[in-house]
Amino acid sequence: MNNVHFLDLGATYHELKSEIDAAVARVLESGWYLLGAELEAFEAEYAAYTGAHYCIGVGNGLEALHLTLRAMDIGPGDEVLVPSNTYIATWLAVSQTGATPVPVEPDEYTYNIDPQRLEEAITPRTRAILPVHLYGQPANMAPILACAKMHGLKVLADGAQAHGARYHGAAIGGLGDATAWSFYPGKNLGAFGDAGAVTTDDQVLAERIRILRNYGSRVKYVNEVQGYNSRLDEMQAAVLRVKLRHMDTWNARRVHVAATYKAALAECALLLPVVPPEITPVWHLYVVRHPQRETLQRDLQTRGIQTLIHYPIPPHRQTAYADLGWPAGSFPVAESMADSVLSLPIGPHLSAAQQGQVIEAIVELCKT
Ligand SMILES: *Cc1c(COP(=O)(O)O)cnc(C)c1O
Repeated sequence: MNNVHFLDLGATYHELKSEIDAAVARVLESGWYLLGAELEAFEAEYAAYTGAHYCIGVGNGLEALHLTLRAMDIGPGDEVLVPSNTYIATWLAVSQTGATPVPVEPDEYTYNIDPQRLEEAITPRTRAILPVHLYGQPANMAPILACAKMHGLKVLADGAQAHGARYHGAAIGGLGDATAWSFYPGKNLGAFGDAGAVTTDDQVLAERIRILRNYGSRVKYVNEVQGYNSRLDEMQAAVLRVKLRHMDTWNARRVHVAATYKAALAECALLLPVVPPEITPVWHLYVVRHPQRETLQRDLQTRGIQTLIHYPIPPHRQTAYADLGWPAGSFPVAESMADSVLSLPIGPHLSAAQQGQVIEAIVELCKT
């Protein structure tokens, strides 16, 4: 019996080795490494892929969120509604502007921010809603956008886990005011290092982010605002262009893995993911829930199967956010998720035999 890793990142390189080696060599030979032709081409290709007018490459996913909030003039004294159950980057982007993240609980079934709970969290200081397309499933955007419109709020989506996902059959990059993307190596579209981007249909916003990512400068040595150094380099852009061409094929493999889990684990004592009809997910993660999650994880590890937990501590319970003063029990849905979620191995290179091994073990361990 071989070990089953959660995700085989090396396999993504090996499958495309000749294309990637050629792309990297092309950049090295060019003598131009930042803000060049590869980035421009990737931005055009990724904007088209996500159905948005503009794409701005930046250093990573956190900066994609942060620079967009800055470009929206969100800062000290402002509040931004965020999911109570997300990776901490979503919250940090808000805090880094000086604004306050205000948690909103997720829907119990989709794990995405619950549009019904937005109203009660809105105050005169609220400036924006920041939904996350968690685990590869787009958030329920229609009611979120309606609520934002009614209250005059901006909508920035965190698409870090949802490259290629669709909502009502359409690409999601142009929904709301902007979408922030991460190309962290483990994401569905991953670089060989850090990278990120923002997509938007808003030309003014796009231009502001473009200036902010490069020292607040449009013309070299002329600085209009106090900007940042957050650029997507030419090497990563060239690699991302190669991987983007294989994105749909790789997402289709994830969809197949998810469908296989769904069919095989239907009778197990596990809560499986729920997908609403308007959503086409890309299965960044396949997250199940089990009341004795730690025991299950340990028993799977004993059988050579690696699982992960996304995420074990909700942001409001992190020491980093102790100053916000949210005690245990403040956000019971997020807290109960943190105690029970388990992510099963999934990825474009998980073989049928490996998945069979995972399924066999879970069926045995989770008999009803
Ligand atoms: C990965 C991730 C980020 C941050 O992306 P980085 O590129 O690592 O900065 C933000 N939000 C979510 C939901 C993520 O999964």
